[in-house]
Amino acid sequence: MEKRDYYEVLGVSRGSSGQDIKKAYRKQALKYHPDRNPDNREAEEKFKEASEAYEVLSDDEKRKVYDAYGHAGLSGQGFEGFSDVGDIFSSFGSIFEDFFGFSGAGGGGRTRARKGADMRYDLVLEFEEAAFGVEKNIEYNREVVCGSCNGSKAEPGGKKTCPTCGGAGQVRRTQGFFSVAAACPTCHGEGEIISNPCKACKGRGKTVESKKVSVKIPPGVDQGVRLRVAGEGQGGSRGGPNGDLFVFLQVKDSEYFERDGSDLIFNADVSMTQAALGCKIKVPTLGGDPVEIEVPAGVQHGHRLTVAGEGIPRLRGVGRGDLYVDLGIRIPTKLNKEQKELLARLAEISGEAAGGKEGGFFNKLFGD
Ligand SMILES: [Zn+2]
Ligand SMILES: [Zn+2]
Repeated sequence: MEKRDYYEVLGVSRGSSGQDIKKAYRKQALKYHPDRNPDNREAEEKFKEASEAYEVLSDDEKRKVYDAYGHAGLSGQGFEGFSDVGDIFSSFGSIFEDFFGFSGAGGGGRTRARKGADMRYDLVLEFEEAAFGVEKNIEYNREVVCGSCNGSKAEPGGKKTCPTCGGAGQVRRTQGFFSVAAACPTCHGEGEIISNPCKACKGRGKTVESKKVSVKIPPGVDQGVRLRVAGEGQGGSRGGPNGDLFVFLQVKDSEYFERDGSDLIFNADVSMTQAALGCKIKVPTLGGDPVEIEVPAGVQHGHRLTVAGEGIPRLRGVGRGDLYVDLGIRIPTKLNKEQKELLARLAEISGEAAGGKEGGFFNKLFGD
């Protein structure tokens, strides 16, 4: 299915403020919320579509990319949207609390298995590592289900029936025309409250573990690319799957090159005589030996030469980009007597005025 424009999905104009975008999303979320449209595929799709639009437009960075490059720009950075409704609740839980006065997740009854939260890891790469790909071991802390209480948060026999909901796990609330089943505020949908918390996790149901993951960085990645490592985020609750780990890449500058997509730019200087007469120069390449290239006679300042195929390997493509050599022309700042005379002679036979008072052209025309 062709993706619709995010602004069109939310029915807002391109210049809309964050507040307007949130309002527009609230309207759509209320209309298409799964609790209000049970077993309605179409409503679910609309809910997902609006949530994806909101995720992008409410995030300054993502919105900027989308405004400039559209859907292709976001997918180029690894953005995928939501695979299911559970994803939306785990990302936007607090927003739904704003909208409905309670979390939209699990409103239909006792708390369901929930996917763990996604995590972010910022990884800095050397310029060459980003170009050619690399495997990195990263280490971070994440929360997992407590092994002692299995996530129940209580010592064995340490729970009793919730006095607010009598064990049902939900209460009903009226929202405009709707009567909505909401998770019980006392037991959060559990139907039970804890009378004797687990000692190992202090009743949190989760403990922190140190995690090591090896991440394969494909060749050609660039600043801002986000890699998804499925299942390596925070642990899920009530048997739900783990969240995902998102590795955000930062790439260090190169000593020699500027990068433009899969192309490289190298700035080289030649002297004014080399530029006039032509010459050969050596330029560095990325991950290889320097190459000798021919500077043709008569090049001008800013002239660009191309070394084909010496750029960066293309991400999700074949081959490499090109290496561009941008020429600058050096004008000598100190000349000895002989050099001065030669250049003056050159100016003279070229019919140019040069050398201030001693210059030939004007002296010839107007002097003596
Ligand atoms: Zn525990
Ligand atoms: Zn309760």
